[in-house]
Amino acid sequence: MDTSDFLKWSEHVARWARDYHERLPAMPVRSQARPGELLNALPTAPPEHAEAWEDIFSDFDLLIPQGLTHWQHPRFFAYFAANASFPSMIAEQLATSLACNCMLWQTSPAATELEQRMTDWLRQAVGLPSRFTGLIQDSATTATLCAVLTMRERALSWKGNESGLHNAPQLRLYASPENHSSVDKAARLAGIGQENLVKPGTRKDRSLDPESLHACIRQDLDRGFLPVGVVGCIGGTATGACDRLSEILEIAREFNLYSHVDAAWAGSAMICKEFRTIWKGIEHADSVVFNPHKWLGVQFDCSIQFCADPQQQAATVGLRPDYLKTAGLEEITNLNEFTIPLGRRFRALKLWFAMRAHGLAGLRSLIRDHVDWIGELERLFAADPLFDVAFRSELALFGFRLADSFEHAERLTVELAARINDDGHVYLTPTVVDGRTAIRVTAGTFATTRPDVLSVHEIAGRIARELVS
Ligand code: PLP
Repeated sequence: MDTSDFLKWSEHVARWARDYHERLPAMPVRSQARPGELLNALPTAPPEHAEAWEDIFSDFDLLIPQGLTHWQHPRFFAYFAANASFPSMIAEQLATSLACNCMLWQTSPAATELEQRMTDWLRQAVGLPSRFTGLIQDSATTATLCAVLTMRERALSWKGNESGLHNAPQLRLYASPENHSSVDKAARLAGIGQENLVKPGTRKDRSLDPESLHACIRQDLDRGFLPVGVVGCIGGTATGACDRLSEILEIAREFNLYSHVDAAWAGSAMICKEFRTIWKGIEHADSVVFNPHKWLGVQFDCSIQFCADPQQQAATVGLRPDYLKTAGLEEITNLNEFTIPLGRRFRALKLWFAMRAHGLAGLRSLIRDHVDWIGELERLFAADPLFDVAFRSELALFGFRLADSFEHAERLTVELAARINDDGHVYLTPTVVDGRTAIRVTAGTFATTRPDVLSVHEIAGRIARELVS
């Protein structure tokens, strides 16, 4: 491919992308593909000779989009949105064209400095104090793993990495059962072990019970275990649960434990001052993660970790062999030293474009709309005798199920979720809350409109009536 073909096909792709987004509302949200469908349509061996671009692109067009679930669809209400706004897509095209590796300052000075500036813009946008320093991670899972590794090393006086864990006391980590499974994964990968991830009790509002947390730590100390840290939950995945950080982080401080807060989804909403009550006390955390790739329209992957003392994380995950040294600039910030992979994509560009193109005011108004529309939808479900509201969060997430008054409500709720998703008009995620199935609805995609959100009640009502009749 020469540069003129590159231009021709890049323009073609830009037009294709525009058409795709215009066609999205008429397409089913969840992929209709059957297992093995694409696999069987592909040649089993790689091509020996170059193929024509027309053929490559037409195969893409024929096989790929229809085999995907459309995350940018305006009626995608499942999981949490992985939202990509147009400015961020354009930035990604440029980042792909530049194709630089931002592992060291010297390998991409502008990328490093743009990342430093963008993460500080975000720190201000969500109202965190200036003692926090930001860093872009690929995902919240990686940020949480880095934080848990840092907890472990700090508790072991930075000896675990050197000596291994075989002589270490039994390590203990504390987190709410409402936390995302990335916390379980971090406990496993950090060598702490699932059994040593202690999940104290929760209160009625699903926040971690501080008394239970305190008692668990006390008991573990009495047994000679080594508590390493506490992970707070702000906007848990299943129900949007939020810990009361002022209480939880005070306990962490009392026992000199490192703290990390997972606000992967809810953190974006902190750009709206009125929602900040849900993470009151956050300024006392040692580490915080949130995902602009969920709710700020900055496409996957773009997760921000703020650390009160990033050097502790660098002391845990950073290494500087000779070939990664920068002669004469030993003190310069090399961002790879704060993360697990060495190589780093140029992710700050999409933050820069998206924040400038939308402005914080524009982003706030999108988030407020999502919260309002989900609230309106929840009230429709609450007023409908067909349904019970299973839970509501303070942000754009709630869950419903078929009303208990119906015989076999649990089995029919499972069936209802499957049929709604098979229908294709909207896409929702079933989960289990208090031992029973609930169907989650969350709005976060920028293309979503109020009628899109309210259509969930229409579809669910139609299918529920068929099920109970
Ligand atoms: N934490 C919470 C609360 C989440 O909802 C998710 C994913 O949805 C994650 C962590 C993991 O995010 P990531 O895919 O960025 O690792």
